[in-house]
Amino acid sequence: MENKILKYDFLIVGSGLIGSLLAISLIKKKHKVLVIEKEKISNKYDDQRTLAINANSRDFLESIDMWRDLKKEQKDINQIIIKTHYQENESLIFENNNETMGSVIFNKDLLAKSHKYLLKKKSLLDKTLVGLEELNKQKIIKIKNKTYNFEKVIIATGKEIQKKVNPKYFFKGSSGHRAYVGFFYHSFNHNNKAYEYFTKNGPLAALPAPYKNNTYSTFIYSTKDEISFVELKNIIKKNFYKTHGKINLSKDFFSYKISPYLFNSINVFENLIFLGDCSRSIHPVAGQGWNLGIKDIQGLNKLIETEGLSSKNFNKLFYYQRKFESSIYFFFTEIINKTYNSNSPITKFFGKASLKVLKNFNFIREVFVQQAMGKNKIFD
Ligand SMILES: Cc1cc2nc3c(=O)[nH]c(=O)nc-3n(C[C@H](O)[C@H](O)[C@H](O)COP(=O)(O)OP(=O)(O)OC[C@H]3O[C@@H](n4cnc5c(N)ncnc54)[C@H](O)[C@@H]3O)c2cc1C
Repeated sequence: MENKILKYDFLIVGSGLIGSLLAISLIKKKHKVLVIEKEKISNKYDDQRTLAINANSRDFLESIDMWRDLKKEQKDINQIIIKTHYQENESLIFENNNETMGSVIFNKDLLAKSHKYLLKKKSLLDKTLVGLEELNKQKIIKIKNKTYNFEKVIIATGKEIQKKVNPKYFFKGSSGHRAYVGFFYHSFNHNNKAYEYFTKNGPLAALPAPYKNNTYSTFIYSTKDEISFVELKNIIKKNFYKTHGKINLSKDFFSYKISPYLFNSINVFENLIFLGDCSRSIHPVAGQGWNLGIKDIQGLNKLIETEGLSSKNFNKLFYYQRKFESSIYFFFTEIINKTYNSNSPITKFFGKASLKVLKNFNFIREVFVQQAMGKNKIFD
């Protein structure tokens, strides 16, 4: 008997936080969507990282009804305080009087909730792998003995893309950092403040941690050095005892290799759409990687409305629209890391000057606040 062809609007490859949330947003708009994931999804919930989500991303989660349960466990960020190693007694405060700047949640909570939704909708197949070349060449695809015809194929496979594609299609950053992530208890209330210290050896952030009371925080320290637990404990204590009081670092900590890049996907896979970490990866210093992925999702949904799915230029338009904002964030994070971690007198001069400008000109600081909250519309 001839195999029936199942017609779908979208195939999404990769069920990480970006692929899954894109799928939910499309399903809510009545599109027919299939998500395939190469791993077993129950293995995906051991990620101990927290996610600093900005106000725009939180609004997006609310719009697809993914925020209601999460908001019970989240912690608000009301203020971001920035300091540098060469001006230890001066700090720069970012805040917004109208709404909280963002929230902190656990990655795994959002992922589990998203997968649950997709499984209920019978839209998620795990342990499924299809090659990118095959997806780029043909619209009729065989997956697990069924034949599908997809209008659009979206790739959200995260950083692993680097292993699959010729390096000449990537514009690479220079970080060489490893990010160390963990938790600490402290005697003072964190008062929903987030801290970013540019230490001599790399940026160090502390954020209110979800679930517990206000004496539990998470940190992320990016550095080129190999760090032991004792060294990490000393770094956290030295930098946060004044703001957080007596500190007790949790024994478990995790480290992630940071390799910033921009992927010129249009030059190699013109029939596929790339978003999230596989289209670009930026240094976590600004806590914006996933937030940019949410902007990808919003941009894609907007383009579907304005252009229609069958538009010939759809993939190119999406690529160039998102490339602009990705490039700005990519270079911005590269530059701030270089400027604030350097000991050279010239970069120190520029570092100090830029902090002075931000401190003294409210309207410039307000632009940064809006940008951090994902509310600036200049890239839309
Ligand atoms: C230490 C650290 C802290 C961070 N903190 C923040 C933060 O506070 N705020 C923020 O906005 N961002 C943060 N980020 C960035 C954020 O974690 C990422 O941007 C985000 O998780 C990327 O999601 P994704 O879905 O694009 O990719 P991933 O989460 O990597 O998901 C990709 C999925 O695709 C699957 N897959 C891979 N290859 C295939 C294939 N061939 N076929 C099928 N499936 C495949 C994988 O198994 C995986 O499930 C941080 C990053 C790091 C490293």
